[in-house]
Amino acid sequence: MDQSDVAGDLASILLTEEQLGSQLDEIAAQIDADYAGKDLLLVGVLKGAVMVMADLARRLHHPVQMDWMAVSSYGSGTKSSGVVRILKDLDSDLTGRNVLIVEDIIDSGLTLSWLVSNLRSRGPASVEIATMLRKPDAAKVDVDVKYVGFDIPNEFVVGYGLDYAEKYRNLPFVGTLAPHVYS
Ligand code: 5GP
Ligand code: MG
Ligand code: MG
Repeated sequence: MDQSDVAGDLASILLTEEQLGSQLDEIAAQIDADYAGKDLLLVGVLKGAVMVMADLARRLHHPVQMDWMAVSSYGSGTKSSGVVRILKDLDSDLTGRNVLIVEDIIDSGLTLSWLVSNLRSRGPASVEIATMLRKPDAAKVDVDVKYVGFDIPNEFVVGYGLDYAEKYRNLPFVGTLAPHVYS
């Protein structure tokens, strides 16, 4: 997508493609070091984590497997409902596996804390979290996150996988929306 197509919808660019990429370089190097010699399954949370999963996984030297889960907590609006539903479950058996959940953003943390306990109940060796973005001021529950790209202000953001009413996911950067988009 050319940025100019939606330029009028955006209030600001929070993180550029370059900033996202160099942070992923560092996270990938840490993951390579932390999981050296160990089995690793990346679990991406659809649909938002598609970009970070693709960009992170291809930076890893470590051989990994990738699987996907789809959960719903938001609908098309901008507020967390706290209710989590599995729309698509994993194909993989987690018994004895090292699992790294790959997320786009942690907002209230409600979805992820639910997901972590769900996956832990399946007998994995470990469950850790990598997220591109985190909003510390929005946290409603404490979630132990091993890898964080950026802590960002408590604003609704789009791009790099994140949508508003299913739009803007394919922007290569993270930005905020102009107020007129919501009304
Ligand atoms: P949480 O349960 O941590 O509040 O957020 C769960 C999901 O809500 C995220 O994985 C993401 O899909 C969505 N979400 C949270 N904050 C934002 C945001 O600022 N922008 C967009 N587009 N989605 C968000
Ligand atoms: Mg997500
Ligand atoms: Mg969404």
